[in-house]
Amino acid sequence: MTSPFNYTSPTVSVDALKHSIAYKLMFIVGKDPSIANQHDWLNATLFAVRDRMVERWLRSNRAQLSQDVRQVYYLSMEFLIGRTLSNALLSMGIYDDIKQALDEMGMDLEVLIGEENDPGLGNGGLGRLAACFLDSLATLALPGRGYGIRYEYGMFAQNIVDGQQAESPDYWLEYGNPWEFQRHNTRYKVRFGGRLQHEGTKTRWLETEEVVACAYDQVIPGFDTDATNTLRLWGAQASNEINLGKFNQGDYFAAVEDKNHSENVSRVLYPDDSTYSGRELRLRQEYFLVSATVQDILTRHYLTHKTMENLADKIAIHLNDTHPVLSIPELMRLLIDEHKFSWEKAWDTVSRVFSYTNHTLMSEALETWPVDMLGKILPRHLEIIFEINDYFLKHVQEVMPDDSALKARVSIVDEDHGRKVRMAWLAVIASHKVNGVSALHSDLMVKSLFADFAAIFPDRFCNMTNGVTPRRWLALANKPLSALLDDAIGHTWRTDLSQLAELKQDIDYPSFLRALQKAKLENKKQLAAYVGEKLDVVLDPHSLFDVQIKRIHEYKRQLMNVLHVITRYNRIIDEPDANWVPRTVIFAGKAASAYYAAKQIIHLINDVAKVINNDPRVRNKLKVVFIPNYSVSLAQLIIPAADLSEQISLAGTEASGTSNMKFALNGALTIGTLDGANVEMLEHVGAENIFIFGNTTPEVEALRKKGYNPHEYYQNDPELHKVLTQIATGTFSPEDPKRYSNVFDNLVNLGDYYQLLADYRSYVDTQDKVDELYKQPDEWSRRTLLNIANMGYFSSDRTIGEYAEKIWNIKPIKL
Ligand SMILES: *Cc1c(COP(=O)(O)O)cnc(C)c1O
Repeated sequence: MTSPFNYTSPTVSVDALKHSIAYKLMFIVGKDPSIANQHDWLNATLFAVRDRMVERWLRSNRAQLSQDVRQVYYLSMEFLIGRTLSNALLSMGIYDDIKQALDEMGMDLEVLIGEENDPGLGNGGLGRLAACFLDSLATLALPGRGYGIRYEYGMFAQNIVDGQQAESPDYWLEYGNPWEFQRHNTRYKVRFGGRLQHEGTKTRWLETEEVVACAYDQVIPGFDTDATNTLRLWGAQASNEINLGKFNQGDYFAAVEDKNHSENVSRVLYPDDSTYSGRELRLRQEYFLVSATVQDILTRHYLTHKTMENLADKIAIHLNDTHPVLSIPELMRLLIDEHKFSWEKAWDTVSRVFSYTNHTLMSEALETWPVDMLGKILPRHLEIIFEINDYFLKHVQEVMPDDSALKARVSIVDEDHGRKVRMAWLAVIASHKVNGVSALHSDLMVKSLFADFAAIFPDRFCNMTNGVTPRRWLALANKPLSALLDDAIGHTWRTDLSQLAELKQDIDYPSFLRALQKAKLENKKQLAAYVGEKLDVVLDPHSLFDVQIKRIHEYKRQLMNVLHVITRYNRIIDEPDANWVPRTVIFAGKAASAYYAAKQIIHLINDVAKVINNDPRVRNKLKVVFIPNYSVSLAQLIIPAADLSEQISLAGTEASGTSNMKFALNGALTIGTLDGANVEMLEHVGAENIFIFGNTTPEVEALRKKGYNPHEYYQNDPELHKVLTQIATGTFSPEDPKRYSNVFDNLVNLGDYYQLLADYRSYVDTQDKVDELYKQPDEWSRRTLLNIANMGYFSSDRTIGEYAEKIWNIKPIKL
């Protein structure tokens, strides 16, 4: 019987694979098998696999070119793709063959897979979404490419030292990146600064500094298809290796310094998530991405069409959040200044090409750039933005002449807050479609942030509910469950996730529920082994695994989870002999390096864990672990092991969430608020099969309007009162009793912005219901099965199918 990784018939023999790996090891890696280490073997294997992929890739590229179809270019500052080897093997159906080949050479494939560095080229959900989308685009044979930055340092590596987050650089390229092709001949100059010279209608941009963007291509395999796409990442190189002027003056170090300065632009990923930092280097990074990308798109287009006239018929450019919005004035600039388009014609092209996804409504995340900074770094772009604004405001004046306040509100330039350019406004004005990422978010988007624009452009806004790729998030991450699904419904759910609905016929077979439980237990044991080895904490795989893993952010409310943990701890101490459902509460996630409140939450989790895990009265009834250095690979390990998925953000704050989908797909039940895509998950799985609690978005708003007073909850709920007092007085930080007095103050005295105390009681009561259900294993499993069976909708294949049809107007290529 073939394993769930390898159901397609092998296209190559094991002997041929062995030969290739040995060949690559000697002639590409340059090592003798007798002294090669694990990384050398990993690289040799990646090269061998890559060769086989390249044939498909070239075929696929040729087909795209010859069919001359409309293409989409997906621009994103982040692509959180995860490890490549196992995914490539899965896509090509050669997992077991490579395993056997390595085995016969004395190597263990699973060990090598674990040796690969996780490319941390993204922060969290936004970057991971981009990665799922690339996977679906390729699998659906849709003509598209991703464009991003090849950061040398990805997201920092997180360690926990004395309970606190410690950051260290993540140099993911340490052992090279065999999966990329550097394109030495695909290079573009990206210019900054300088000044403008106007002659009649002509504008010249002079005396600029220059950085060269060099292309690095990664192959993105489609699953079980020849279709293969490209992720093109730009790396910066100083345009002159050294500054000759300075060199000749004998100032060698200054010359080298200059080089370092310009290459900084692709050095490191900004580790902020859902917050906007406004730093100049970030602006340079964003322009670096879009300038190289737009030049590349135009070059490619001209090569095949020898004209720019049909540009809008042949290309779609999608903006993943506002980070790449400068591509709008960049395309205007190139069309007008280099390709002699009139302003109107350039604008017409631009407004047919661009579309934009909004990812957040929270004001602290909305990008704005000071006019002064933009003018200094990108003077021509600022000028074009002003022209777009004038043109747009004239339009507003024509269609809504009576509303004078409206013009100030929708102007791209915010005059009230120190003259800033609002990037989201520019995105909306220039795009033909703007989408939110869940039904709730898209609805709130047109009622709040973009309400004025929805009145001006009623047909522009739409919803594209997020999804996740079933290849990585089920087939790769959860081997025991995949094997069970293959037995029950066949293997084609990998490319048609709606087939999971067929599982409903098994719902009343106890043997199937047992098999489901067995698969879950196997995953829990695997996670327990990891935690035992890495953290030296023993987990009981029979306890309920209660998991919250995601970026640490106040709106995501990890702190509310902690309030529940402490509540449970107090109850166990009060009633040690009650019939407790043993629980293991698992956290993981990184805090932005400058985000003090988030770092405090990590510290508190670890302090609480220390007290609870060492209290002999608790023993196996409750355990708390914080697993450091959350990443795609860790998510692949943790999610399949979860019984309970914590999706507890304040209603109206999480745009969609995608880990909520991954968990349910892997047979966890959700405890969650009516936020983001949880709302649609409720509709799909049914109210009996999900634990929904807390205030709804209108209730949150009403509370805020009426004057929310957290103190009332603190005074009136004795359990909550006790928990908060313990935090404030050092029960969990006896060596530093005031450590968390600010946490207490934020919740009780300073307004509790994310309304944790308002939702606390319904959260804790709902957690009690979770326990009750867990006491009936078959009923629990029945409901997890109904979750799995109803997750078909949340495949990113469905999402990308909708984008392709309704936004990009692209069709699959024929292979
Ligand atoms: C899915 C995923 C996310 C997004 O998680 P949310 O809970 O939806 O915020 C973030 N990071 C990684 C590594 C992921 O795999």
